[in-house]
Amino acid sequence: MAGTPPTDRPAPFARFRHGSLECTVVTDGILEMGPARVNFPTADPAEVDALLVENYLSPENVRLNDNILVVNVDGLLVQFDTGVGVDPALGRGFFGEKTGQTIPNLRAAGIDPLDIDIVAITHTHPDHVWGLVDADGVPLYPNAKVAVSREDFEFWTDLSRVETAPNQHMKDHFLGAHKALMPYAEADRIIWVEDGSEIAPGINAIATPGHSPGHVVYQIASEGETIICWGDLCHHYVLLLQRPDWAFQFDYDKPAATAQRRRIYDFVESNRYKVLAYHFPFPGLGHLKKDGAGYSWVPVEIERALPAETIRLLRDAAN
Ligand SMILES: [Zn+2]
Repeated sequence: MAGTPPTDRPAPFARFRHGSLECTVVTDGILEMGPARVNFPTADPAEVDALLVENYLSPENVRLNDNILVVNVDGLLVQFDTGVGVDPALGRGFFGEKTGQTIPNLRAAGIDPLDIDIVAITHTHPDHVWGLVDADGVPLYPNAKVAVSREDFEFWTDLSRVETAPNQHMKDHFLGAHKALMPYAEADRIIWVEDGSEIAPGINAIATPGHSPGHVVYQIASEGETIICWGDLCHHYVLLLQRPDWAFQFDYDKPAATAQRRRIYDFVESNRYKVLAYHFPFPGLGHLKKDGAGYSWVPVEIERALPAETIRLLRDAAN
């Protein structure tokens, strides 16, 4: 990553305080998902396109950010999900050269991947776990424990499912999850997560199966403030907030995914919590506001007065 910083990529990181916790969001890059009507297959295509145009978005290419949150809990570093990874045959091969940026962007933010203590996984899909290892299957977070639900681990690392998967991309879901997770399992570095599990002080899992068999979101509480770090509970800040009943193409159990969306939206809005949304516009921090039969997204203003340390890192990265 030496030389001139690329200008065609999103800002590498943002930093903010949450109660007494220091939070950093780094981008892994942006997923170019193609036409909206393919990504949201249960909805009326004309209605999908109209809603996007009304919100100044292109129906021809849905773009999803990958926002990786790192929380410093009194020196314990907890990272949430890992991006698509750098394997030219898997993550970067499928999602493109502009993805798989988590590791250099962590370094740009002054975070050494070797210092991560816990990697908390929302679910084991490609854009969330493939970044756990390098192209050779070597752990990129060798000193971390990986918190993951048993349901997702067992489903997506089961190689007997490869044969019956409908296409190569779905076969890769199983092969990639196996490659990413098994080195940590073999090193006895898995923390099994279930509903209510506390993975670090103030950080608890909430089981939200639907998008994936063992999907969880994480509730991060500090000094009376709460963020829900929700992985793939919701993929799109317009479509699935305003129309919670529209499924995303990779929802494993579409009715269950919809029910979990509605439940967690209500939980967040009625408690006036914040959300850290993995796939929303960077850095993905905001509130929900009731809007007709759905919700609208209210981004949180990120601290503009950067800490001196952050300014120094930005200057170093540019030189
Ligand atoms: Zn995702």
